[in-house]
Amino acid sequence: MAGSGGIYPGGCLCGAVRFRATGPWESPHWCHCETCRKATGAPAAAFVNFPVEGFEWEQGEPAWYESSPGIERGFCSVCGTSLCTFEPGDALISLLIGCLDEPERIAPTYQIWMRRRLSWLDDLNDLPGRP
Ligand SMILES: [Zn+2]
Ligand SMILES: [Zn+2]
Repeated sequence: MAGSGGIYPGGCLCGAVRFRATGPWESPHWCHCETCRKATGAPAAAFVNFPVEGFEWEQGEPAWYESSPGIERGFCSVCGTSLCTFEPGDALISLLIGCLDEPERIAPTYQIWMRRRLSWLDDLNDLPGRP
């Protein structure tokens, strides 16, 4: 599943870390694993993969935490926002879709680690909502 080209700017909550990703992106997905849950503090994490070539940290740099052997998670050391996962040497960087300035541009198309998915996520669309 590959998406379109173009420029996809984004960054952390406080603005200390800003990036510019360039499409085409691929594999937009939800991950329900426990590591992503803990790393983000959210019930699940939505990722999209961008080519490292054409990706730039435009301002600041993330801090890195090796959450599994060979897998680094980048986050802002000022505000704590989770930004990405990266395997050094890989041609792709996996960005958290929520860090994009325009997250509506990329919708997840599949889910992984379904055996760890929180059961109450099934009820999300039935919950009463506020604007
Ligand atoms: Zn920040
Ligand atoms: Zn995960």
